[in-house]
Amino acid sequence: MRRFFYCTKMVRVNSNFCLLRAGYLFTEIVNRTAAYKQAHPEADIIRLGIGDVPGPLVPCVIEAMHRAVEEQADKRTFHGYGLEQGPAWMREQIAAFDYQRLGIAMDADEVFVSDGAGSDLGNLSDILGTDNRVAITDPVYPAYVDTNVMAGRAGEWQEEAGQWSRLLMLPCNAENGFCPVPPAEKADIIYLCSPNNPTGIAMNKVQLQAWVDYARTNRSLIIFDSAYEAFIQSPDVPHSIYEIEGAKECAIEVRSFSKTAGFTGIRCGYTIVPKALYGVNDKGEEVSLNALWYRRQCTKYNGTSIISLRGAQAVLTEEGHEQVMAQIAGYMDNARRIREALSECGLAVYGGTDGPYVWVRAPRGMGSWAFFDWLLEECQVVCTPGVGFGNEGEGYVRFSAFGDPKRTEEAIGRIVNYEL
Ligand code: PLP
Repeated sequence: MRRFFYCTKMVRVNSNFCLLRAGYLFTEIVNRTAAYKQAHPEADIIRLGIGDVPGPLVPCVIEAMHRAVEEQADKRTFHGYGLEQGPAWMREQIAAFDYQRLGIAMDADEVFVSDGAGSDLGNLSDILGTDNRVAITDPVYPAYVDTNVMAGRAGEWQEEAGQWSRLLMLPCNAENGFCPVPPAEKADIIYLCSPNNPTGIAMNKVQLQAWVDYARTNRSLIIFDSAYEAFIQSPDVPHSIYEIEGAKECAIEVRSFSKTAGFTGIRCGYTIVPKALYGVNDKGEEVSLNALWYRRQCTKYNGTSIISLRGAQAVLTEEGHEQVMAQIAGYMDNARRIREALSECGLAVYGGTDGPYVWVRAPRGMGSWAFFDWLLEECQVVCTPGVGFGNEGEGYVRFSAFGDPKRTEEAIGRIVNYEL
């Protein structure tokens, strides 16, 4: 860090950002893959590491977005600024199609439309006090940790322990089936992701009920990330936390069209902030989280693009739903192939049944990076080292089901040639 003698006169930065640890995982994957390619220019590398969707968008979405562009070309149908929380027609359609249709009570004014789950998961931090104790699963989608570091809730990084002093990490490993269990101590905010990235494992009704009961007893808030809800296949896995009794009093749910409908580039998502949800302010008064989030969005967000909204609206119809579910069935077929083939060669394989990721234990006690290197050098296959998602991920790698089916098949064929 550069120091200047006149530094006290300079603009002060948010020092929490200086606590962030370098985003090492994906850069290192790119560097190692590039180095291998440079040494072996003829190598045909298959990437099964990425969590992005390959596309294309389904026909229903394309048509709706074309129509939305045409609307913008006519003064009579042109849309300028929309409502920050999303237009009524979109909020109503989300409440009806994603919730009421499944028997879950949902008011349109509990739905806040956004440009994706990533923004909402980070921005929710704005309405929550910095002194809350935060619990996060390990392994984990890295944004939950980083956004809490930015907000000053993580404490200090402890090099020896390899963790943040104020974050309560919830280990997810083979012993607990990679599903977090409520801790003995109190956490104020708990991040849960089901189906999970990176493990591809989802929590069932009983497991989620335990979390809702814990949150109600401790008056905690659950932030439930269900970005992969559409990939669920098992009948006992809830698609929404609001399928669990009492969840509306303790949980915010964040959803996205990114993985469901290939919107990683188009951008649309939404967050449910129930009206029954309350927190307490410095004066000890109860405050509605729905009202705070509404206020936050009105000030800091100017609404989702009308083109994205129209595309996402098309996903919330019988026809659109059928089209995206057919695409998802293809990804889940990839997941099944990866799972079955790697199990057959003796590897311990998890996930991939309710989420598009397969979580694989490296053979013979290898570390995550050692197995990554082995797969790259011997099979020219790129995966994601599990240790990049947290300490509990060491010794595992993540395979993504978002690859092309033929290339996925070829990658599997290369791996199963070896005795592992
Ligand atoms: N939550 C999880 C668990 C994810 O894996 C991702 C993206 O990979 C996101 C949220 C972010 O999604 P979005 O594209 O809607 O910002």
